[in-house]
Amino acid sequence: MLFTADHEDARRALQKFIAAEINPFVDEWEKADIFPAHELFKKLGDLGFLGLNKPVEFGGQGLDYSYALMMAEELGAIRCGGVPMAIGAQTDMATPALARFGSDEVRREFLTPAISGDAGVSEPGAGSDVASIKTHARSDGDDYVINGGKMWITNGVQADWICLLANTSDGPKHRNKSLICVPMRTKGVEVARKLDKMGMRSSDTAQIFFDDVRVPKRNRIGEEGHGFTYQMLQFQEERLWGAAACLKAHEYIIAETIEYTRNRKAFGQSILDNQTVHFKLAEMQTEVELLRALIYRAAEALIAGEDVTRLATMAKLKAGRLGRELTDACLQFWGGMGFMNETPVSRAYRDSRLTSIGGGADEVMLTVLCKMMGTLPGMNQK
Ligand SMILES: Cc1cc2nc3c(=O)[nH]c(=O)nc-3n(C[C@H](O)[C@H](O)[C@H](O)COP(=O)(O)OP(=O)(O)OC[C@H]3O[C@@H](n4cnc5c(N)ncnc54)[C@H](O)[C@@H]3O)c2cc1C
Repeated sequence: MLFTADHEDARRALQKFIAAEINPFVDEWEKADIFPAHELFKKLGDLGFLGLNKPVEFGGQGLDYSYALMMAEELGAIRCGGVPMAIGAQTDMATPALARFGSDEVRREFLTPAISGDAGVSEPGAGSDVASIKTHARSDGDDYVINGGKMWITNGVQADWICLLANTSDGPKHRNKSLICVPMRTKGVEVARKLDKMGMRSSDTAQIFFDDVRVPKRNRIGEEGHGFTYQMLQFQEERLWGAAACLKAHEYIIAETIEYTRNRKAFGQSILDNQTVHFKLAEMQTEVELLRALIYRAAEALIAGEDVTRLATMAKLKAGRLGRELTDACLQFWGGMGFMNETPVSRAYRDSRLTSIGGGADEVMLTVLCKMMGTLPGMNQK
């Protein structure tokens, strides 16, 4: 991955923004179990960071995916997982399909405001089995009438609109779904509750119900019945984003663990001087670098227009696995202090656990890879 002087300029601007506008407030937002999405997104929007690789006609910067990747990586410098995840939900979960397949009208109505700071959320499905979602959009003249519900919607409490995947017919489950933009203020949309989570606390997560929600058919993204395909494409960006946002966060935890264990003494020497500690940290740093190489390779392929399902799936799987191993090892080296909520390593431990679950669990990633390798039981039976 070649980053140019333009990438580095944008990177420095984002670093400055994170240092001044985000990190000083992270502890407060973590305690409050919410961050001010509208205020923060508006500022990010004003700097152009919510539309780096979105079309210029709709307010974006029209740059290629390498800029989005640079941003995902840099957001790892935010000292919690919740705020970067909320930003990623906006830029790489709720809007890629809209930007790529939406009509000009629907892009003007939802993408342009999202790029300037309105909060969008994404609801691709029913957990691991996306094809089996139950939310239904019945055709009624020029409208859809939507009924159903969904747990675990990132930014759901503060969102202005939702990118919803719903069944628009009773046909085969990979061809009966559509992506539809639904303003959250529409009658019948109910944010039932804000969920209480073990980690990612500064990001609000909601349970949402749809009760006879009427929206015009022009709010549909692209062709009716193509929603599952669009969502699978959108997952590539979401999964790469999720992996890239882990890199810097992991490096911070390694660096802080080195610092802490160097200063903490036991049995007449620094904790760090135990070979089991410094070897493990060197191994973890190596793993982070390997993950970075995989992500960069996937991003280059994405920019070249290739299908990166395989590489993005591997990156997401590896990021989840590594996040668990790395934060668990580092927390152990902090001893009792690692178990305290006040230490960064305990927050990282709680936050990073989600990577193996959200956006498709590790087992779903393995299933995708096994399908591609032709090793799923039953695949080769005549
Ligand atoms: C904090 C948070 C934020 C989220 N934000 C969003 C969001 O903004 N939008 C959104 O749409 N979703 C969001 N999600 C939902 C998330 O994507 C799902 O939780 C995830 O896809 C897993 O689905 P599930 O929880 O229903 O698990 P289930 O489908 O119930 O699976 C449970 C477990 O079963 C195992 N499993 C599942 N399938 C298989 C299989 N084929 N083989 C072997 N084992 C299997 C896995 O271990 C899996 O973890 C969020 C979740 C959380 C916790």
